[in-house]
Amino acid sequence: KMARLKMIAGNWKMNGSIASIDELAKPLAKFMDLTQHEESGEKCFEMLICPPFPLIDRIAQATASSDLLIGAQDCHMNESGAHTGDTSVDLIKELGATHIIVGHSERRADHEESSAVVNVKAKAATDKGLISVICVGELKEERESGEAVNVVSKQLEESIPSGATAKNTIIAYEPVWAIGTGLVANIQDVVDMHAAIRTKLSTIMSDFDDVRVLYGGSVKPGNAKDIMSSENVDGVLVGGAALDAESFIEIAKSANNKCSI
Ligand code: PEP
Repeated sequence: KMARLKMIAGNWKMNGSIASIDELAKPLAKFMDLTQHEESGEKCFEMLICPPFPLIDRIAQATASSDLLIGAQDCHMNESGAHTGDTSVDLIKELGATHIIVGHSERRADHEESSAVVNVKAKAATDKGLISVICVGELKEERESGEAVNVVSKQLEESIPSGATAKNTIIAYEPVWAIGTGLVANIQDVVDMHAAIRTKLSTIMSDFDDVRVLYGGSVKPGNAKDIMSSENVDGVLVGGAALDAESFIEIAKSANNKCSI
């Protein structure tokens, strides 16, 4: 059985500018071109960056010949039409993105996106052949009241659309209280939650064993190795530390001991 290929994903949020193409995207593309597994010569991990919509086009063009993957941070659920300010899956795809983050906690909070909305957005993405990165995670109060696993299980149940497979769907577990706060869930809590997520996925998807489950929440070069070497952690979704090429590369390097550059 093939091991799940780790994914190092960067969510730029509302950051970045045209300068980020040279300062961030291109160095990451170069890194991906140079890095390989010492024994097999294959890729050791995937790297995905999700810049703001307006940068997708230029970044995709500037890194077209590399293995660096480009994603969007959100999409609209409908194909096209009167939805001012929104962006369609078709356009995201046409510009060269292959992944779409859906249900990030900041979307759930800022735009009141429910899991039902996340579900149809994920469906819109996968129906067009893109890969959805579905985010779930509990609030601080929910963790403190012992509800974390229940909350996340319910989010998974409601957010994962029909037709989701390990090929078109990635899950990101991001405890909301750990996002952008510098607080990281302790490793045992991460391991326990990822095990609970795998168990829950077994009731939703037939190829649950191949689904990658990322951890997100204040991942930095200093803690990435412990997190990514944990059972059922198949990579990371990184915010702040994804805005600096050196630190994002440092995080990627800790995904696989057998990777050379
Ligand atoms: C995120 O944006 O999903 C995230 C985890 O942010 P940060 O790494 O800054 O906590």
